[in-house]
Amino acid sequence: MSIYVHKYGGTSMGSVERIRNVARRVAKWHAAGHQVVVVPSAMAGETNRLLGLAREIAGSGADRRELDMIASSGEQISSGLLALALQAEGVQARSYAGWQVAVHTDKAYTKARITGIDSERIMADLNAGRVVVVTGFQGVDDDGNITTLGRGGSDTSAVAVATAIKADECLIYTDVDGVYTTDPRVVPEARRLNVLSFEEMLEMASLGSKVLQIRSVEFAGKYHIPVRVLSSLTDPEISLPEEMKSGTLITFEEDEKMESAVVSGIAFSRDEAKITLVAVPDKPGIAYSILGPVADANIDIDMIVQNQSIEGTTDFSFTVQSNEFQRALDVLNREVLPKVGAREVIGNEKVCKVSIVGIGMRSHVGVASKMFRTLSDEGINIQMISTSEIKTSVVIEDKYMELAVRALHKAFDLGDTPATAE
Ligand code: ADP
Ligand code: ASP
Ligand code: MG
Repeated sequence: MSIYVHKYGGTSMGSVERIRNVARRVAKWHAAGHQVVVVPSAMAGETNRLLGLAREIAGSGADRRELDMIASSGEQISSGLLALALQAEGVQARSYAGWQVAVHTDKAYTKARITGIDSERIMADLNAGRVVVVTGFQGVDDDGNITTLGRGGSDTSAVAVATAIKADECLIYTDVDGVYTTDPRVVPEARRLNVLSFEEMLEMASLGSKVLQIRSVEFAGKYHIPVRVLSSLTDPEISLPEEMKSGTLITFEEDEKMESAVVSGIAFSRDEAKITLVAVPDKPGIAYSILGPVADANIDIDMIVQNQSIEGTTDFSFTVQSNEFQRALDVLNREVLPKVGAREVIGNEKVCKVSIVGIGMRSHVGVASKMFRTLSDEGINIQMISTSEIKTSVVIEDKYMELAVRALHKAFDLGDTPATAE
């Protein structure tokens, strides 16, 4: 007998029929003698609908505590429905909201971090032979306020629960049958990877591949929880051994099973906005005086570029996530501009980030230059570049995103019939 956590995303929970299928699948695992905790997302489109209602009333500046109160309800409904569907399958099941478990988080509404999960209630139910359903996306802070974990946060709920109950594997069921070389909806030739190293998955997720929320991968890495991404849309009755080896396994071993491609995947994100402070006096401490207040407002900063100074002033650019763009501009205009004496702050939301990722990049030279040449051949201008050991990212105009991803996918032979040997 093993312990498994199953996570089902919005599409997988998208209708009563789909929820019934999830229940059938879970019942199959339970009948095979395994202990199962299920972490569902809200039904497809529900979180957007709920946040849309909030926006109608309070605009983009809505009180974030209340946003979490509202958005968290989607998962509560889907969890209760799944528990009922499991009971209809003859399986004893109980659902819990995050605060009932409890899933403890910090107080950063709309993007809270899990600080710990109590496992007693879950374990007691599992040991009583029940399937336990725990809401994804939700937590509770030390004062009892409901929090949410950021968009796509149910992945993180699932891996965190898996950590707390020492599960043997965390299965992330979704609407694609694994992790691909790039989003198969953008590049139909994209190829599914049987295994992907944890480090590559971490980069892919942090660079925009929304198949897994970045924090879920961080959790998996920190506690060495095996994570598998697989399809929820197959026949729920397929044999357990077949299902258990399907999809993509995120592995911590760089062994001979690993595919040896130099570039393993291409990630992209439209969710970027670029901010430039023009003509900033170039003197020590300038980066801190610009970025300090932005960081203090809990806004994540991604790429940073400071130009060569000309006659004592320089242009300073950085990127933030689109949904924090307005807040970042407000902080800069209010707190930074009057102090540092830049000429102006310019915002550009029409940008995107495209990245190539691969552990093989460590030992191969010329990978980044091949990326730049490919983009140049397509006439795409690169606005910012950032590199690390296993990735190169560029910021480009957003209208070229799909063109860039397709061209790079081809240039690095990532398609269904790769020219390079594996
Ligand atoms: P869920 O609702 O199950 O959490 P998401 O929409 O969050 O599902 O994530 C699954 C989606 O991620 C897929 O439908 C696919 O379009 C997208 N995706 C982006 N990059 C990749 C990739 N490299 N491999 C697989 N899917 C990807
Ligand atoms: N329902 C939440 C969202 O749409 C969390 C999730 O699906 O993972 O972002
Ligand atoms: Mg998701």
